[in-house]
Amino acid sequence: MNLPPQIQVLQRGWLSSNNILLHDAGGCALIDSGYVAHAAQTLALLEQALGGKALTRLINTHCHSDHMGGNAAVQRAYGCSIAIPEGEAPAIAAWDDRLLLLGYTGQSAERFAFDQTLSAGERLSLGGLDWEAIAAPGHDPYALMYYAPEARILISGDALWQNGFGLIFSELIDKPGAFADTRATLETIARLDVAGVIPGHGAPFGEVGRALETAFQRLDAYERDPGKLARHALKVMLSFSLMIHRRIERAALPQFLSARPIYADINRRFLGLPDAELQEYLVRDLQRAGALTLEDGWLLAA
Ligand SMILES: [Zn+2]
Repeated sequence: MNLPPQIQVLQRGWLSSNNILLHDAGGCALIDSGYVAHAAQTLALLEQALGGKALTRLINTHCHSDHMGGNAAVQRAYGCSIAIPEGEAPAIAAWDDRLLLLGYTGQSAERFAFDQTLSAGERLSLGGLDWEAIAAPGHDPYALMYYAPEARILISGDALWQNGFGLIFSELIDKPGAFADTRATLETIARLDVAGVIPGHGAPFGEVGRALETAFQRLDAYERDPGKLARHALKVMLSFSLMIHRRIERAALPQFLSARPIYADINRRFLGLPDAELQEYLVRDLQRAGALTLEDGWLLAA
């Protein structure tokens, strides 16, 4: 799909979110900074894309590790200000491991300080376009999307992808009601006049109606059977971990999972499987999906 020339999407692999660069002679802005382990790559891509222009602002859609893990590195390199959604501020200020889903899930990020918070309804001027911050609770209760009405572009973060949306973590761990939030967010998107979506992961896409249909179907299925979301979440997290570590010894999987409490918490609440059975299931299903291979006793990222 065609984007206005001042919007450049640095599309990344799954461990990092996309980085969206909004060019402006008066100072460019970046939305989301990727995963900490990819920070050097993020900086290299950014340097090339900026071509000597100044980066003055870094803004997050939400504060999961794959979106804010590179914030500190980008700020060090460019001295830009950092703005985060208002609701994320307490967890970021306290660097709350559990709320930020860091050690709790086996992910990491470099601690950063923010300069500004953004709330729903706020207007921003980025890349010479006017944008509105829109609440997008569901995947993350405090997430914001950024919408440019004239260009009809939506930066959706993990609230809408071409083929689904980000895991509804809060429903899984501590905040029933997130299904309804997710539905409301999808309905909000459906009411916007959108020609193109720039998602947090994957390529920008134009067929918003079709993406919404897929998202609503997935949400319906999760609401009918929350265990389906639980199983999907555990697999997504384990394959994310495999992307981080490249390989995990199969025999060490029990310790690996018990060091990341979210697995036991979700299993206890939704599945109730004995530990060994859960491990078997995860390995078998990720193998079947082509997300890992098992070689000489090692689980390898595909
Ligand atoms: Zn993400």
